[in-house]
Amino acid sequence: MSVSLGLPRLRSTGPAPSGAPAGAGLMDRHGRRATDLRLSVIDKCNLRCTYCMPAGGLPWLPAAQLMTPAEITRLVHVGVTELGVTELRLTGGEPLVRPDLEDIVAGIRAAHPDLPVSLTTNGIGLTTRARTLAAAGLSRINISLDSLDAATFRALARRDRLAEVLAGAEAAAAAGLSPVKINAVLMRGINDHEAPELLAFALERGFALRFIEQMPLDADHGWTRAEMVTAAQIRHRLGERYRLTPHPGPREGAPAELWDVHPLTPTPADSRAAGAGGSGGEPLGTVGVIASVTEPFCGDCKRTRITAEGRIRSCLFSHEEVELLPLLRAGATDAQLAERWRAAMWAKPAAHGMDHTGLDSPDYVQPERPMSAIGG
Ligand code: SAM
Ligand code: SF4
Repeated sequence: MSVSLGLPRLRSTGPAPSGAPAGAGLMDRHGRRATDLRLSVIDKCNLRCTYCMPAGGLPWLPAAQLMTPAEITRLVHVGVTELGVTELRLTGGEPLVRPDLEDIVAGIRAAHPDLPVSLTTNGIGLTTRARTLAAAGLSRINISLDSLDAATFRALARRDRLAEVLAGAEAAAAAGLSPVKINAVLMRGINDHEAPELLAFALERGFALRFIEQMPLDADHGWTRAEMVTAAQIRHRLGERYRLTPHPGPREGAPAELWDVHPLTPTPADSRAAGAGGSGGEPLGTVGVIASVTEPFCGDCKRTRITAEGRIRSCLFSHEEVELLPLLRAGATDAQLAERWRAAMWAKPAAHGMDHTGLDSPDYVQPERPMSAIGG
């Protein structure tokens, strides 16, 4: 089955009506300032995760519509020098499907030696590319891993490639891309029972695990609020094997709420620390839970997004996009590109509309693009 990819509304490519104050970076009408750029380098992927892609894939973008390494570097440069972008994440689709990913990273690194540049990937191919990516200047990596069981992995990703993902994660750590972060999405009745095991796996290896609530961004439109595994349920599952206490320190707009992880049965040292008023000894590590649906953090959002064909999305859940690439290809100056980007972000919606007090809120309309075509 193939699913057609409906396109979101494109906003005018002329000067956008904007009240965006000049020189203030990527401000929006609600007082937020975006400094964190998520840039998709490709829409294509070699997995078909059920919560993201349809089984038959999607009509991929023609190569000529994808941004080249030089174009990506230019847009990142505009973001950093004109608009106050301070961190960059490259994503997809699957970024490792692009053979020139190292060129993309190297180009950005040459222009911006201090910019934190991270990559979100399914990990397939990292055994041969973790070192070249690190050498090109990649700062950090997030690897998606939803199951440690081959059959469950196959059911979720519709491909039999767990061993490659696991080997990729080890290769990333060996290449010094640490701490390796692991992203996991739990699906009820499929892999939610694996939450404590995934955490044990991450703690043993020094990987930083973050669970992401499943969002209604799947191409099959199969998400239901009743079936999704909530952050509270994730924490409850982890409680089967661990004790979680809030991680001290400010959250600073980070999407993941961090928890310190302790053994369920306190060790003598834990008991002494608890008796002294502490929360119970040195934690085994931390775990993050990203509750985009049930505990939304839109008010603190710092994100701006660019799709693989060079369109600005002010929000993961936007219904509007603004073209940047044709302007760049027509010879626009950095200032002109920055002006269009600022105008697009000024219109960022206040929130995604998934009201967690109501079931399947009528305020929420799923965007046309699935996660893989937005760049998660
Ligand atoms: N292919 C790469 C990967 O899987 O890491 C990068 C792109 S993927 C769209 C980025 C992240 O989005 C992954 O961690 C994936 O698990 C997550 N994701 C995809 N669809 C999602 C959904 N419907 N809800 C929550 N997270 C989702
Ligand atoms: Fe591909 Fe990542 Fe989507 Fe899975 S989540 S189908 S790996 S883009």
